[in-house]
Amino acid sequence: MLDLSTVRPASAAAFERAKAVIPGGVNSPARAFGGVGGSPLFISRADGPFLYDLDGNRYLDFIGSWGPMILGHCHPKVVDATIAALKNGSSYGAPCELETQLAELVIEAIPSVEMVRFVSSGTEATMSAIRLARGFTGRDRIVKFAGCYHGHVDSLLVSAGSSALTLGVPNSPGVPAGCTQDTSVLRYNDVAALAELFAAQGDRIAGVILEPVVGNMGLVPPTAEFRAELRRLTRQHGALLIYDEVMTGFRLGYGGAQALLGDAPDLTCFGKIIGGGYPVGAYGGRADVMRKVMPAGPVFQAGTLSGNPVAMAAGIATLTELKTNPPYARLEAQSARIGVGLLEAAKHARVPVQFNRVGSMWTLFFTDTPVTDLDTAKTSDVKRFGRFFWEMMDRGVYLPCSQFEAAFTCGAMTDEHIEQTIAAAGESLKALK
Ligand code: PMP
Repeated sequence: MLDLSTVRPASAAAFERAKAVIPGGVNSPARAFGGVGGSPLFISRADGPFLYDLDGNRYLDFIGSWGPMILGHCHPKVVDATIAALKNGSSYGAPCELETQLAELVIEAIPSVEMVRFVSSGTEATMSAIRLARGFTGRDRIVKFAGCYHGHVDSLLVSAGSSALTLGVPNSPGVPAGCTQDTSVLRYNDVAALAELFAAQGDRIAGVILEPVVGNMGLVPPTAEFRAELRRLTRQHGALLIYDEVMTGFRLGYGGAQALLGDAPDLTCFGKIIGGGYPVGAYGGRADVMRKVMPAGPVFQAGTLSGNPVAMAAGIATLTELKTNPPYARLEAQSARIGVGLLEAAKHARVPVQFNRVGSMWTLFFTDTPVTDLDTAKTSDVKRFGRFFWEMMDRGVYLPCSQFEAAFTCGAMTDEHIEQTIAAAGESLKALK
């Protein structure tokens, strides 16, 4: 671990100052570097594939604000669209056409989404989607999977991934037992457990929510059998299948994970990319279900800043760029190259690893066990990951600060940046000895 006070004194001082007034010095726990034993960098600006810290260091950014910045930072078309919108006022509390325009883009991109409602975060999207599933079906039970993270919704904060996992608080104090009593937690990719639960309680299940490709226990793909059973059982029992594509939406392809996999969930949650770096979430899906949302229907959900014009403009500019100049083939090739490079480097350094990847989302797990669910993810040597993280940081590569998070390749990276990353990983893995 690097001692920031000597190596990055400005970040260290900023963190001390922040800690006095903000719990833990951060406004979201994943940023606190708790998973790698150290204190966070404070960022002064970002541009293209780079982050710059307060001490003037530059890093290749594989976090990309935890997913949204697929085009890189400060993409000129997004910046221009946002500034233009800002000059027309920052919030109206009344409908504007930008909301319809972004809704039309989403619906055109994702065939299973016939109507969509915008909110201001991924958490709001999942919270609203499960309320709708319950309101639509008249049932209470929600099924989730260990290691999937769906934001900090009370009823979904059980066996959650991301920072809830990194920091070892799978069940947060402050969540009453009553809030989670209608949540069933199963193992990801476990078809037998799914079948058993539906056989026992199928008529009580309102919906099943999952990350169709998991980013929040590190990258874990679903098996084809698991996905097929999810669709079959939910349909058979009248439960809604909810894909949480907050991370994967517009990331694994313009149609998200569902287009890549060929799936059609009943409801889908979005966030991150859909707002082009601004606070936007959304949930959408079957029109007959969405028409239950107020004021079209009885299920209440609202938001003062929902459909905010500046955020909508950033989202429209981002999706339009992704649609007209798709970066996906290049992201796929570059991320595949990272996989080959990292595995070669690890072999050379004799460090046992697993490289999991789908499209531009990937994780290098420090374990010799194939990672298919939370239990196998947890076989990783997190101390070794932490040392690798700091070695990479020292070489100007900013990876997710936890073993249980996915890295994101972004469209502003060149092949040269990818080779630099692989070279840095080679040196870093050797330094672990
Ligand atoms: N769902 C998934 C799959 C996520 O990855 C996240 C955030 N990382 C959320 C929901 C919550 O989104 P937000 O942080 O915007 O509330």
